[in-house]
Amino acid sequence: MPASPDGSQLTVVVRVRPMNEQEKTKRYFQCVFPLDKKRLLLVDPEKYEKNILRANRQHERQFGFDSAFGPNSTQEDVHEATTAHLVESVVQGYNATIFAYGATGSGKTFTMIGTKEQPGLMSLLTRSLYDKIDLDEYTVQLSYLEVYNEVIRDLLNPSAGILELMEDDKGNVRVPGLSSVRAPNMNRIMQILQEGNLRRTQEATEANKTSSRSHALLQVNLMKNNRQHGKLFLIDLAGSERASNTNNTGQRLKEGAAINRSLLALGNVINSLSSGNKTRYVNYRDSKLTRLLKDSLGGNARTCMIAHVTAASGHYEETYNTLVYASRAKNI
Ligand code: ADP
Ligand code: MG
Repeated sequence: MPASPDGSQLTVVVRVRPMNEQEKTKRYFQCVFPLDKKRLLLVDPEKYEKNILRANRQHERQFGFDSAFGPNSTQEDVHEATTAHLVESVVQGYNATIFAYGATGSGKTFTMIGTKEQPGLMSLLTRSLYDKIDLDEYTVQLSYLEVYNEVIRDLLNPSAGILELMEDDKGNVRVPGLSSVRAPNMNRIMQILQEGNLRRTQEATEANKTSSRSHALLQVNLMKNNRQHGKLFLIDLAGSERASNTNNTGQRLKEGAAINRSLLALGNVINSLSSGNKTRYVNYRDSKLTRLLKDSLGGNARTCMIAHVTAASGHYEETYNTLVYASRAKNI
C-alpha cells in the first residue's frame, strides 16, 4: 500500500483559512502564521494587546503537523498532500477515512465540498478515482448521510426517515435502507453534495453563519464486478465549538453532549491508532460515528484528519483548542 509522507497510517494536517471582510472590519489581526510546510506559530492576541514585553515568547506557541496549509493554499494543494495518494490504496482494495475538524466558520465545508469554481476534496478525490479505474470492471457508488444527536439520516433521500446501524456476525457495519447513487461526472457530484448539504441539520448563529450540528459522511464505494472492493469516507464533522460551550442549555446541551461524545470518541480512537500500540483496546462502540467507521479506521485503513482554523485574532480560543486537539491526535 502506498505510504503517507511519513509512512504511517495516520496523517494530521492543518489548514488556515484567510480572514474575511467581516473579520477585517472588526479589526481582528492575524494570529496564526505558517512557519514552514509543517509548522504553525500561534500568538495569544490578548497578551499581545496588553503589550506584554514583545521579547517575552511565552505568548507564542509552535505546533507541528504532517502539513500546515496557510491562508493562500488551494484546494489542489490540500488534495495533493492529503487525499491524492489515498486513491491508489482504495483501488487496491483498502479503506480510508478523511475528517474535516474545526469550529463553525473555520472552513470545513469549503475544504470538503467547495464551490463550482473551487471544488473540494469530495469532488477532487472522486474524480481522481474515476481517472484510475477501468469502467468496464469498476463502478463508483456514493452515499451521503448525517449523524445528528446519535440519529442517522439519509442526505440523498430525506423521506427515508431515521436509519439504523446494523452489524452482522462478522462485525461488518451496514445501514439498511441507505440510498446510493452512481455519480457519472463532476457537475453531478457537486450537485449531489450541495443538495445533500442543504438538508443537514443546521442552525443560524451570527449573521451569515450557519452552524452544522451534525456530522456529514460521504461514503465512496468502489465496486469491482458488483462487489465491494475499497471504500472511502469523507466526513464534514459538526462544529467543534459546541462541544466545549458551557453556556448551552436544553436542546443545545443535548446536542453539545452528543457532539462532545462523538468527537471525544473519535479523538480517542485516532489517538490509540497513532500510538502504534496494536494491542491497545479501541472502543468504537462509544458513538454512532465511530461505529460507522469501524472498518475504515485502524487495521489496514488509512486515516487523515484535516483540522481547520481561521487566522483572525477574534477566534483565538477556538483556534487554540483545535490545534491542541489535532496535535494530540498524532501524539506529537
Ligand atoms: P465551516 O464548514 O467550518 O463552518 P465554511 O467552510 O462554511 O466553514 O467556511 C466559512 C466561510 O469561509 C465560507 O464563506 C467559505 O467560503 C469561506 N472559506 C473557508 N475556507 C476558505 C478558504 N480556504 N479560502 C477562501 N474562503 C474560505
Ligand atoms: Mg460547514
